[in-house]
Amino acid sequence: MVIITNHDMQITKSDFILYLSCKKSLWLLKNKPENFVEGESSNFEKRLSAQGEEVERYVLKLFEGRKNFKTQIEFKTQDGLYSKADITEYLDDGCINIYEIKSTNSIKTGPPHDQIKDAAFQTIVAEQSGKIVKDIYIIHLNKEYIKKGDIKPKELLVLSNQTENVREIIPQTRNEINAAQELIKNRQINEQNCSCLYSGKSNHCDNFKFFNQQIPEKSFYLLPRIHKNKIKTFVNENRYILDLIGEEEVSENQALVLESYKKDQPIVNREIINNFFSIIEYPLHFLDYETFNSAIPLLDRTSPHAHIPFQFSIHKIVDQNHVDNFSHNEYLSEELKLPEELINKLEQCISPSGSIISWNKSFENTRNKEMGELFPSKQNFLSNLNDRTIDIADIFKNGYVDIEFEGSISLKKVLPVFIPELSYEDLEVSGGTDAMLEWFKMLETKDEVHKKKIRKNLLKYCELDTLAMVKIFQKLKNYIK
Ligand code: SF4
Repeated sequence: MVIITNHDMQITKSDFILYLSCKKSLWLLKNKPENFVEGESSNFEKRLSAQGEEVERYVLKLFEGRKNFKTQIEFKTQDGLYSKADITEYLDDGCINIYEIKSTNSIKTGPPHDQIKDAAFQTIVAEQSGKIVKDIYIIHLNKEYIKKGDIKPKELLVLSNQTENVREIIPQTRNEINAAQELIKNRQINEQNCSCLYSGKSNHCDNFKFFNQQIPEKSFYLLPRIHKNKIKTFVNENRYILDLIGEEEVSENQALVLESYKKDQPIVNREIINNFFSIIEYPLHFLDYETFNSAIPLLDRTSPHAHIPFQFSIHKIVDQNHVDNFSHNEYLSEELKLPEELINKLEQCISPSGSIISWNKSFENTRNKEMGELFPSKQNFLSNLNDRTIDIADIFKNGYVDIEFEGSISLKKVLPVFIPELSYEDLEVSGGTDAMLEWFKMLETKDEVHKKKIRKNLLKYCELDTLAMVKIFQKLKNYIK
């Protein structure tokens, strides 16, 4: 029997999940941890894990009155497997039941994170450490649940017996665990490339550079939505540099990015920009929302993970002949509540006619639809906003293309290139999740000075989102024929 003493060679559930999504990443983590880039645990991920703990609090209420269970029980095997079960139930016959708690609205199967596989790993480790596992449950949130008064754990949570599904994949999972153990024992692997060479940029993790040092910074991966067959051709022919790709080999939109690279300048299609300016109607309202969401609904009439707006910023341009003149309105809720006041303020700030301009309008439009469902008397107003919304980000798909946007049309990528003097860099709040977390802090703090400071930072952040659109709009206007 091999007894693993080297902690680095231990395989935890997170290691196994990493192995399933990328074998080389696990090898790097275990063998060259100094080179492994964790991929900054984003605020979003930190929030997810905090929410898991919240859900667990309610799960424990389901177990109230039962004495035969324990939380966070560790299982270790002599060959280095390690897991921690959220809840372990001890049965009279000496067997155990395992409960996995998930803060998702359903059981996720398949990549990138198969929750049945998680449960299979837990089961294997528990059994290999000497336990007899009878049933395996996954407890997740009920997406249909609508809070009314105190949270009712029995309605909020779905307790799903997954024993059959888990048992079905145990042999396969056991083979995968064996393979992961063998892999990390290798002192050397091919570090010269990794399988994501054959995938688009969105699949590349932060260790892509380590494994693919031969790839130039401006490579074909910057071409948007590039098909995997095309990637395969370019890789097999060792044509990473954009100079080696012909316009005729790629789609129309990709060809524009390529042209921008080759000419070292943005490619402007005045026709498309003209079209945008011909459909907009004044007064223009540049609109952006910030929202909060929570696994456990915090407000009556809301469901798990619902997005509730708590802030907006609107810049308004009234006169098409004086687009340098604009006004600004904003709203920031001072308490945790449904967005009725926010909608009322919107009604005051938005004229009965004129376009609403958003960046990636589907986010704002979905919030409007949801708010309309929450407040039927406001439905007409909100659906009218949706009818009037135009997405300014669309221009950057094929109307103004710049290789410097790195194949993205997110505002955070476009703004520093298009309007270099405007930047998010110096702001205390740097993204949507950050804004939500700061807002929660603002609501909680009793320190008035701190509260004021957060308030100011939040307003500044949301204002920049719409000011950025205004500045981009003004600059685009220079391109009209
Ligand atoms: S980029 Fe490479 S290391 Fe990262 S996930 Fe893809 S294959 Fe793995």
